[in-house]
Amino acid sequence: MNTEICKHQPVYFGVININVSERTIGSVDVWRCGVCKKKFCEEKQLGIESITDIVGMPKIEVDEKWAVIVSKLQKGKDKWKLVKLKENGTIKHETLNEKVLSLKIVNFKVEDDQHWSFLIEDNVNKAIEI
Ligand SMILES: [Zn+2]
Repeated sequence: MNTEICKHQPVYFGVININVSERTIGSVDVWRCGVCKKKFCEEKQLGIESITDIVGMPKIEVDEKWAVIVSKLQKGKDKWKLVKLKENGTIKHETLNEKVLSLKIVNFKVEDDQHWSFLIEDNVNKAIEI
């Protein structure tokens, strides 16, 4: 089914825990449309409540994948961010001091000395140590 005309009926699919030194500091909730199988994700920082509703599901293009970018320089909640990656190109990544970096993307992965990334689809129901 064409995802662009699907009205989407997302159901809860799983979670990825984001750990630092084996302690969970946040998570990404993953929802999946039961009709077209498209995935929707929501970033959750520990201690900050958020309410997911289907109407508010973030949009993702057909040529993008959900991923988490991890900064080797930052700490705590500023260390990671849920993003949408295209297969190749660059992504604008805003840092704590409001500097906007342009990170290189190769095969749905960040290639950078100070950042790395992982895909949501490969890690559902796992804990990722950042
Ligand atoms: Zn759908």
